[in-house]
Amino acid sequence: MDGNDGAGWLKNSGAIKKCPYCNSFVRGDAVRCDVCRRRIGAADGNGLAKKPMDIAAYLTAAGALAALAAYLRWAFGG
Ligand SMILES: [Zn+2]
Repeated sequence: MDGNDGAGWLKNSGAIKKCPYCNSFVRGDAVRCDVCRRRIGAADGNGLAKKPMDIAAYLTAAGALAALAAYLRWAFGG
């Protein structure tokens, strides 16, 4: 018998998960944290919600890299 639940109930329950940004507990099916309003993904095996891919940040980074590459070609390319 294991009477010590601890945080074990959280694992794989799917009923609740933890926001990776503010560490608040939110509903397991929530797509946005109730506390910090940031987008969160599905819970992993530890009940911690994943951070979803931020497409805007990704595109910004990709654009910056493309601009840098273009600049380097312009500055150093024949
Ligand atoms: Zn949060």
